[in-house]
Amino acid sequence: MPLEPFFSGNGLDRADLVRGNPEQLGELAARPDARRLRWANGLPDIDGNGRLQWDSGPADIFLGLNGNAPCFSAIEPGGKDLRAQFNTLAHLHWDDAPVFAAAASLASWHRRHTFCANCGQPSDLVRGGWSRRCPACAAEHFPRVDPVVIMLAEHEGRLLLGRQPQYPPNRYSALAGWFTREEVAAALSGTPDASFIPPPPFAIARSLLEHWLALDEARFPA
Ligand SMILES: [Zn+2]
Repeated sequence: MPLEPFFSGNGLDRADLVRGNPEQLGELAARPDARRLRWANGLPDIDGNGRLQWDSGPADIFLGLNGNAPCFSAIEPGGKDLRAQFNTLAHLHWDDAPVFAAAASLASWHRRHTFCANCGQPSDLVRGGWSRRCPACAAEHFPRVDPVVIMLAEHEGRLLLGRQPQYPPNRYSALAGWFTREEVAAALSGTPDASFIPPPPFAIARSLLEHWLALDEARFPA
């Protein structure tokens, strides 16, 4: 059963080899077709068609290439809790979701990790914003990931959903939570047909969203 989770895909050519080359990054930033993601209310801006908005010029984080056009995003101040913007996110276009997630999560990580975890000195943004390096002790720091699991439980054509008190009215979601990777592997090891779906980028900072497809005989609660 093929599943394509939201936020999946690269969205852009991430051009990973360019990230470690400051000269090439500088050349991309100076290009007239360089563009930067527009932000609003602490998140990448979304227009009425669910598409991301772009302005001309570079910014600190190099997101990748759209065709030949270099795409950047700034480390913007954070906004409200992501859950408060569910109604806006519901209109986010599928094709733009991976770029939205990458830009939002990287900006959040930089905002919270301005000092070296090894020696306490201020660290510098390097690799086009995909890591930080400490000038004092040379330690390099990468965005940390906390595994997250989302469970879409289906039984005989019905889905088990849940909601939190702070959700907007009539808003429900699949069941989700943080976990240790060993927890899920152990829980699914005896489940027939359990399969791992490659993780997409996730809009919540420092989180790695894992998708598993697990078929079992579990029953819905009454
Ligand atoms: Zn250090």
